Amino acid sequence: MKSSLLHLVFNLCLSLSAYAQSQPAADLIIRNARIWTVDPSHPEAEAVAVLGDRIVAVGSNQQVDAWRGSNTRAVDGEGKRLLPGFNDAHVHFVDGGAQLDNVELNDATSTREFARRIGERAAKTPKSEWLLGGDWDETKWTPAELPTKELIDSLTPETPVAVNRYDGHMILANSLALKLAGVTAQTPDPPGGVIVRDAKGNPTGALKDAAADLVYKVIPPMTHDQRRHAVERALAHAASLGVTSVQHMNPGFVDIAIYNELLDEGKLTTRIYAAPLITQVDDQVKIGIRRAFGGPYLRIGGVKAYADGSLGSATAYFFEAFTDQPTNHGLLSDEMHPISLMHDRMMRADAAGLQLCTHAIGDAGISAILDIYDEIEKNHGARDRRWRIEHAQHMAARDFDRFARLHVIASVQPYQAIDDGRWAESRIGHDRASRTYAFRTFLNHGVRLALGTDWNVAPLDPMLTLYGAVTRATLDGKNPNGWFPEQKLTIKEAIEAYTMGSAYAEFQEHEKGSITPGKLADMVLLSDDVLAIDPVKIRDVKVLKTWVGGKLVYDAARAGR
Ligand SMILES: [Zn+2]
Repeated sequence: MKSSLLHLVFNLCLSLSAYAQSQPAADLIIRNARIWTVDPSHPEAEAVAVLGDRIVAVGSNQQVDAWRGSNTRAVDGEGKRLLPGFNDAHVHFVDGGAQLDNVELNDATSTREFARRIGERAAKTPKSEWLLGGDWDETKWTPAELPTKELIDSLTPETPVAVNRYDGHMILANSLALKLAGVTAQTPDPPGGVIVRDAKGNPTGALKDAAADLVYKVIPPMTHDQRRHAVERALAHAASLGVTSVQHMNPGFVDIAIYNELLDEGKLTTRIYAAPLITQVDDQVKIGIRRAFGGPYLRIGGVKAYADGSLGSATAYFFEAFTDQPTNHGLLSDEMHPISLMHDRMMRADAAGLQLCTHAIGDAGISAILDIYDEIEKNHGARDRRWRIEHAQHMAARDFDRFARLHVIASVQPYQAIDDGRWAESRIGHDRASRTYAFRTFLNHGVRLALGTDWNVAPLDPMLTLYGAVTRATLDGKNPNGWFPEQKLTIKEAIEAYTMGSAYAEFQEHEKGSITPGKLADMVLLSDDVLAIDPVKIRDVKVLKTWVGGKLVYDAARAGR
């Protein structure tokens, strides 16, 4: 009896020590943090352990300390808030990176300042090199009129200029750029585009949607080095903001090649899901890859389509005319001329197992895409497709149910709600504005939200997105309690949509989106507790540290902030 008990104890000790030896030590432990995991089974924790690129333990300091070994790096969270890294569901990553070096016009609050900055940049730009970027916003000027080439022609005699409106749906070209593009009074408006003209019919330089392509196609493409530099700028910017994943809408295949190059060199510090334009769908179909194909750092298999334009450029496509432009309903994009063209491309994409991500802003534009989605489901049968509508900005009341029934994801950009909210009502009236950026109505209908920014249309900073979603306080300060406050999200809902929601939108909810053992160790440590502070202060919160796959990719202390 006695000997067998001893035997048992002996065996138990042996197996315990074997267990202790078989458990490897963590590479990284973050302790003393206030962790909001976005994992409903275990929402709060104070420590997390990482082995390789994965989370292995989440819990109390004591529980996680069991993973500590002699080579474990330990980080003291100092009681700060730790969240899963943000996943921006809609960016234009290369444009954004390039814009960091381009002329900045978004905060120019007068046409004089607009012209001054362009003139200053042109003086420093080698002759005949294009002056691009800008992100101008005429609603910040008085009067809020579109810029004309006359504002800048005398400052840019030898520099072709094509500066874009911040929404990307309009550019201002100077006379030299129009000349190079061959745009004259005789040039007809292309389908899906408008050449803005003066009283005599001469182009003013403002080119809407497809009309901008007349100029874009004569701009020499970025060189490989320029493109790579733009990506590197974008990666560093994302890391500094706690953005650990992005979903790049309409990248060129050359952009994906740069991502792959950086991945090979171990320099890709943001995870990327790339959805090239549907106009190239047959190229993707040919390869035979399906949605979310690739590895943890780089995936493809989505296609991006455009149904219509934007509200700011008055090219979003509506059932009723704009309130301030009684003959204008907006424009279907050139991809929708005719609608059967879009229908056929989407059918081919779906048959190949590709994911559809469709820009649709006006209620009639959204409705037209839901019609096509509906038709695809009828033809190809129901399955887990995770169709997306990008922006889903102005919903017809009757379409919320259909949106939910088709399991469409609303990929939305809350910062644009507080930006457009300054003037949207004057353009579409109160009734339509009440279904604008209708985040709460979507949730009430059981629609999944994915959050993003549309960078470089809006800033990449997740704190501005969270601030916008939670406060709906327009940027002009005129709606401190929220513009259509019934559509506000709680901070927890907004964080969920920005992490798990975005991960779901790219079929990666089992890999990332929450701080859960087994998932990729993508995390961000914040200066202030966004779950506890006054929502007005969320926009001032800073990122202290960002980890991607357990690797520290940003450290504010080292960045000298
Ligand atoms: Zn976009």
